[in-house]
Amino acid sequence: MRIVLLGAPGSGKGTQSQLLVKTHGVPQISTGDLLRDAVAKRTELGQRAKAAMDSGKLVDDATVLGMIRERFSKPDAVNGFILDGFPRNIAQAEALEKMLQELGTPLDSVVLMNLDLGILFKRLTGRRICEECGKVFNVFTAPPAAGHKHRLIQRPDDKEEVIGKRLEVYEAQTKPLIKYYDAAGLLRVVDADADVDTVFKSIDRAVKK
Ligand SMILES: [Zn+2]
Repeated sequence: MRIVLLGAPGSGKGTQSQLLVKTHGVPQISTGDLLRDAVAKRTELGQRAKAAMDSGKLVDDATVLGMIRERFSKPDAVNGFILDGFPRNIAQAEALEKMLQELGTPLDSVVLMNLDLGILFKRLTGRRICEECGKVFNVFTAPPAAGHKHRLIQRPDDKEEVIGKRLEVYEAQTKPLIKYYDAAGLLRVVDADADVDTVFKSIDRAVKK
């Protein structure tokens, strides 16, 4: 199974990735993790990435792609992968396609976890954390029980302005990719407005198409 998973923050992408990893025995490859790992291990690509980040620049696509290529060659990726957080733009999508062609392992599908922006906004801005016991609630979807008397706080990252900005960035990045993969016949749209189990079944059906 070789897929790219697209989903906004709050869409449940992390949870679904973990389920896919367990069920299909393929690794979830996140470029954020790859970067941190390469920098920590001081690999050649890692040092190049660190030099870029230290001077306040973005790590260039070739370096990131090199890391992904290295990761694909690890034994646990022999049956495929779930790519998360990459590609983020058309140039990266084209570069990825070219590399996978060279490796003889093209993508099977690109799964979009689709969720109404209004629902995402509620899910994300409704998050509250208990000051005392650290439990996470959602005032809209998972409010605390009547007996829970501690004070709830909202993290700065969950404030409306911040969430709004994050969702805007996500939309702007993802829209062209959706078009690109739809034109390539790879896009599978899954309704992410359901419980974890239902969404997982939808994804499982979508990737088998
Ligand atoms: Zn509490």
